[in-house]
Amino acid sequence: MINNFIYEQPVKIYFGKGFLSKLDEVLDEIGSETCVLVTSKFFAPKADEILKKSKKLKAVFSGVVPNPLLSGAEEVVKLIKENSADTVIALGGGSSIDTAKFAAACAYSEKTPHELYLKQDFPKKVAKIVAIPTTSGTGSEVTKVSVISHGNEKKSIHNPAFMPTAAIVDPLLTMSVPARTTMITGIDAFTHAIEAYWSVNHQPITDGFAIQSIRLIIENLEKAYSEPDEESKTNMAYASLLAGLAFALPKTAACHACSFPLSANYHLPHGEACALTLDSLMLLNNSQRLEELSKQVGAESTEKLAEYIRHLKEISGLCTKLSELGEVDIDMLSRESAKHPLMANNPVKLTEDDLRKMFEKLR
Ligand code: NAD
Repeated sequence: MINNFIYEQPVKIYFGKGFLSKLDEVLDEIGSETCVLVTSKFFAPKADEILKKSKKLKAVFSGVVPNPLLSGAEEVVKLIKENSADTVIALGGGSSIDTAKFAAACAYSEKTPHELYLKQDFPKKVAKIVAIPTTSGTGSEVTKVSVISHGNEKKSIHNPAFMPTAAIVDPLLTMSVPARTTMITGIDAFTHAIEAYWSVNHQPITDGFAIQSIRLIIENLEKAYSEPDEESKTNMAYASLLAGLAFALPKTAACHACSFPLSANYHLPHGEACALTLDSLMLLNNSQRLEELSKQVGAESTEKLAEYIRHLKEISGLCTKLSELGEVDIDMLSRESAKHPLMANNPVKLTEDDLRKMFEKLR
């Protein structure tokens, strides 16, 4: 039986190899006149090339860092104001896209980005966002989430103001992603899909995206990691997009809740922080439904699916033990994870004590 549901997906998605070349067309279609572009150091030369060619692009900020900072978004807001821009283009991984989203939402407010970070009372009028992902992982191009850090806090903010107007998913842009980042971002996409599937808010329409995404990841991630070719990279770009579409409505759950204190305090990249607890949480969250999913995606059981995640971490040297992070405060990790709002979406109620036991096993 299908329950009533609402699924909103307002982002116009352009998916295709070489589609970065359609940027001007996309800007025309969405009515953009004046743009700024946000990226990280790696894509600074590409951004300058676009700046030279495009009549609409007026300025570039190429200072985005992984686990992006509020200060980066503040710089982008300045550029938007100086250029009276109506559109922010993000060219990069989740860090660039989230910086662009946050800056676009602050662009026309009387309040400072810091005030908006604290209260999240974004104005109705925001700049348009064109998201061009260059990693296959976050799905940020189709979600109303922006993850921004300030001080020791890494905040995942959900707000309609962050929804991109358009997304250009050009798999060729991911060909240069280093192997380790391919694995980390690929496991991030896997985590989105599986958390979308087990979130208490899941719906049949999002289950469909999730199952398709998990299958594609199982079939392509190892190849994209060890012998990347256009086919495996394109399939991963599509899987990441599907995973974004899968979790946009149900949101993520325990694995993401645990990832935030891990990234904020021990500086693990987001996908690696998710990977650290994912196999443990699969077993804690196991159910008949999860056993069925495992079979549908070609694993015999949830245990086998969890083993597959352990295998991915081992072949790529990702963190599998907390001891690899130095002195770790398990009480703090358990407390912070248990009280994270995303924990409410988990299908099994996990107490601080349950999480402490899980982290102790990972010590
Ligand atoms: P990232 O954007 O931090 O990029 C990682 C590194 O890879 C950076 O050094 C970047 O310059 C480099 N890079 C990116 N694309 C490249 C390419 N094509 N070739 C070579 N190098 C490249 O990594 P990410 O995993 O895409 O994003 C992680 C961030 O996104 C985290 O802050 C995470 O919390 C957030 N996130 C957001 C959402 C969302 O819905 N908004 C979802 C999941 C994660």
